[in-house]
Amino acid sequence: MSILEALDRLRPPWLDKLSHRLARAPGVRESLREQLDAFYHLLHQAVETGDPEWLDTLLDDWIGVQTQTEPESPSILLPIMNEIWMLTFEVISETLANGEALEMTGSILPVFSHAFIYVAEREMLIRVRQIQEETDEARKAIQQLERSKSDFISIAAHELKTPLTLIDGYTDMLGDQLEKDQSLTPAVHLLEGIKTGNKRLREIVDDMIDVSLIDNNMLSLRFQPYWVEHLVKTLVEEAGPSAAARRISLEVESLPFAETMLFGDEERLHQAVGNVLENAIKYTPDGGRVIIRGRVLPGFHELTITDTGIGIDPNDQSRIFRKFGQIENASLHSSGKTKFKGGGPGLGLPISKGILESHGGTIWVESPGYDEEHCPGSTFHILIPLITEPPDEKMQRLFSLRNTQNEVADT
Ligand code: ADP
Repeated sequence: MSILEALDRLRPPWLDKLSHRLARAPGVRESLREQLDAFYHLLHQAVETGDPEWLDTLLDDWIGVQTQTEPESPSILLPIMNEIWMLTFEVISETLANGEALEMTGSILPVFSHAFIYVAEREMLIRVRQIQEETDEARKAIQQLERSKSDFISIAAHELKTPLTLIDGYTDMLGDQLEKDQSLTPAVHLLEGIKTGNKRLREIVDDMIDVSLIDNNMLSLRFQPYWVEHLVKTLVEEAGPSAAARRISLEVESLPFAETMLFGDEERLHQAVGNVLENAIKYTPDGGRVIIRGRVLPGFHELTITDTGIGIDPNDQSRIFRKFGQIENASLHSSGKTKFKGGGPGLGLPISKGILESHGGTIWVESPGYDEEHCPGSTFHILIPLITEPPDEKMQRLFSLRNTQNEVADT
């Protein structure tokens, strides 16, 4: 008996056995029998032509139906294929004599191996696609959440600004009234308290707006000429009184390149470096030191601000540059800009980072660790790009005009 004749002989018992064993309910047995019949027909063709790919289209249909009905399951058809193979083997050994059974197994084995690999690959691809789609959706949801968070901060911040301006206006008017009436002098102190509170609130609101601008890549820089020396000098002057109040010595050690005219948004750079300097004072105990140094690196001006403060644990050194990244173990005191460990909203360093990065620079910190007793200190490194040419055409024209005028004046 030829292999094809043997296949024809196997067909009725194979169909009976498989439709009976694979059908979970009698109602589906008939339609399953049709499907199995189609499978057997293609198996026959595959053995006859020696081309195992005859089964591919039917397997595709089966995979399609299975993934629609049970989309979460990682592999559905592979176990069924395994059962079909086992049952086929049973039918072969029950129906054919030993020699024929061996020959039959050898003939259908390549077709089944191909089917196994085909199904495994297809199911895996489908699963990978599903996971990709799920990941894309999750990513979109996170982006949406980030956007709403930022929008919320920005809307809330803008809404808060209007009443703050009103309070400012009324406190000024009240101040004028109090000045006129000597009997109300004690109230002047109370009014000062309101003004300070309002100023601090405005700073927090401004920080919230800046953070949402940075988050949404909407921070626009106004490039102007500036001098590092002037930048540092102004910051030191401003920080002087609060450092002095806490007996902290504020030292500028070296500032190479300081007199060269650079281009950048001086106001924003002032804010970025100012936050770091303010922190250096805030997290250094009374009587400590804060040292500012500068050096020139290829393409950058590096400012370092070193303090003799409480230091920062290596595990927190990147976290502090993220929004609301205050350190948990640093038992912060009530809000205050320069008080020792006076906690803030945790937005200062993310803003500094955002400003410096939008200039093409960066910021990082080095510290042996956090220790309030021994105060190992921290060093913040600030890299500002050395932009020596005006960044846009309009400014270039302006500065070439200025240089020409200077040259004429010199001759
Ligand atoms: P905050 O408003 O809390 O000061 P920042 O973003 O400016 O927010 O700083 C985040 C956190 O980083 C601070 O809460 C503080 O724990 C830590 N930190 C910043 N600068 C220093 C420093 N010079 N020494 C020690 N800790 C610091």
